This record gives sequence, structure tokens and C-alpha cells, in this order.
Amino acid sequence: MKKKTGLSHIHMCVDRILTGEQKLRAMQLSIKENQKNQPVHKRLPGVSNHPMKMALETGKMWAKGRKLKICFLDGSKIQKQKVKDHATQWLKYANVKFDFNAARTKSDIRISFKADPGSWSYIGTDNLGIPKNEPTMNFGWLDDDTDDREYNRVVVHEFGHALGCIHEHQNPRGGIKWNEAKVYQYFAGPPNYWSKQDTYSNVIEKYSINQLNASTFDKKSIMLYSFPGELIVGGKPTLMNYTLSTRDRSFIKKMYPA
Ligand SMILES: [Zn+2]
Repeated sequence: MKKKTGLSHIHMCVDRILTGEQKLRAMQLSIKENQKNQPVHKRLPGVSNHPMKMALETGKMWAKGRKLKICFLDGSKIQKQKVKDHATQWLKYANVKFDFNAARTKSDIRISFKADPGSWSYIGTDNLGIPKNEPTMNFGWLDDDTDDREYNRVVVHEFGHALGCIHEHQNPRGGIKWNEAKVYQYFAGPPNYWSKQDTYSNVIEKYSINQLNASTFDKKSIMLYSFPGELIVGGKPTLMNYTLSTRDRSFIKKMYPA
């Protein structure tokens, strides 16, 4: 039996990190996709940047008006239909389109329900760096009978990543002050069992400000998870958000204008 979302523990989405080779390929394809992804930095005359450093500073936004080619690698009819129904919420605000009937060999996004027990997605044009026979998005705990509210929370969140949104708790403009010792202890336990490095890169580490067009911290964002107060200095928990916040909507509208 699959693990279900525990009430007392956060079932958290894990960041997908590209390997070196994938990163370089994603960088080239990202710039080809959208000129705005070009790294912005001041270069000293005569000094070239290391390609891996450039890759870190490359943007991840799709071209405006882009039709994203999506395919399902597995899953039941019900699972697929529910994902489609909830994912399209973004389309009210973002000038992109979803084609859910794409051939795998031509796809940008590949969805699985059983790659592993977690839920995750690569971020924006990072998806382009992944081989066409691998999933780029996984829904490890969404079954036929999972309730609609949970579907909405998880599907809208993962599609947020696919469109280029990062986790709100890793917003480079800050927002949460962690009780770090407690954070490491908490995520080392069930259901995550993360190493110190996993916890650092999934929770504590902030993104580079160059890399993303981050807005200021939004406590109502669908990209924010609910964290217990014991993990946060001051002891105030973050909210469990089930729908797109006002700022999620305006942010994605700004990223993909009509
Ligand atoms: Zn996530």
C-alpha cells in the first residue's frame, strides 16, 4: 500500500536538481526557448564565465504563448482526468497552453504517478534538459480516491513548478526564519527521512535572486507548504494553502503576459 499524507507530518514536494550534463543542455535550450533567460551578469573584460556558473544564472521561463506538450507515462483514466482538470487553473492567468495528448518523443513534460512515493516537478525550462524517456513530474500519493482538495493543492503546486515557480519558503527575498536544529531533526524522521543535505537544499537554502523573478514572500501562495510552528523562530506555523493566491495569479500573469 502507498503511504498516505500524514496529518501530523508534512508530505513535502522535493526539488528536482539537474545533473551537470542535464544542466548544460537545459541552459542552451532555455536560452533558445526564451531570450529573457539569458544570464544577467557583469562580465569583466577578457574573463569568460565557467559554464556551470552560467547555468545557475540562466532563467527558466517558457516562451510567452507557448503550447506545452504534455504526456502521461502511466496512471488511470481518473488520475489523468483529475490532473488535467486542476492544472488548467493556471491558464486563466498565464499566457501558455497545455496539450495533454503530446507524443512522448516530442513532449516537454512527462507525468508519472508511480516513479516513486513523492510528488515533484522540474522547474520551468529545466524540463528541457531531461531525457524523453524519463518523467519530469510525479504524483506519488494521488490515487483515484484521493479527495479533490488534495488533488488541487498538489497538482496546481507541481504545475506551478513546471511553469517556473519555486517554493515560496525558498524565496530569495526571505520570509521564514528557521529554527534550523529543529528543521533538521524534523525532516530526518518519517515520512521524509531526509539527510542533512536533503533538508538543507529542500528547506533552508534560498534560491539565487538572479535566477528567478521572485516576488516578495507570500504566505498565501500555493507554492508554500504548511510548516509547524516548532520549526520557525517565533513559533507561528505557515498556512496550508489549497488554491492560487492573489499574488500567485498576478505573478504568473506578469511572467506570461497576454
Ligand atoms: Zn514543490
